[in-house]
Amino acid sequence: MEVRADRDRCLGAGMCALTAPEVFDQDTEDGLVLLLRTRLTQADPDAEAAREAAALCPSEAISVE
Ligand code: SF4
Repeated sequence: MEVRADRDRCLGAGMCALTAPEVFDQDTEDGLVLLLRTRLTQADPDAEAAREAAALCPSEAISVE
């Protein structure tokens, strides 16, 4: 699976970093999303959390496909 985050859409709400801290972080300068990992296998323990973060993102900036 490939993880993408659109910083142009990101509002800096931080839900992703709270939900999947191994996959997402927030930029200390502007508060926008940073990707820590871009590829996950289905069996990866962080995959479910990454999908949950995509579902919770208020600006629909995250895709996990
Ligand atoms: S949850 Fe969405 S809006 Fe919030 S920091 Fe993450 S990508 Fe940005």
